[in-house]
Amino acid sequence: MNGSCLCGAVTFKVTGKAGGFSVCHCGQCRKQSGHLWSSAHVADDGIEITGDVRWYQSSPEAKRGFCPTCGAFLFWKLASDPHISFSLGSVDGPTGARLKKHIFTADKGDYYDISDGLPQF
Ligand SMILES: [Zn+2]
Ligand SMILES: [Zn+2]
Repeated sequence: MNGSCLCGAVTFKVTGKAGGFSVCHCGQCRKQSGHLWSSAHVADDGIEITGDVRWYQSSPEAKRGFCPTCGAFLFWKLASDPHISFSLGSVDGPTGARLKKHIFTADKGDYYDISDGLPQF
């Protein structure tokens, strides 16, 4: 999978095995993306990122990477985990992936329902 931000200044190439295909309903992802954030994770050495990513330290444990030009929310990174999450919405062309779960559904907004039958955590 290859991906890019809206303006194309940041690109990435996934070379490792991606997993954890999920939709996050947490308040931080909703604030940063405008709705939900769909992502997959890959080992730190399984992704090549080019361009100037701006990182926002959203908590002591986690930071969120975005393009400083167009604002696209591309990456999420937990300090203690040797994996990085990348947004599925930024993948160019078919992902070949299927979502597996919804996460942080206790924080979901009240303006939509989750009705696809996938597990919720
Ligand atoms: Zn951009
Ligand atoms: Zn989230």
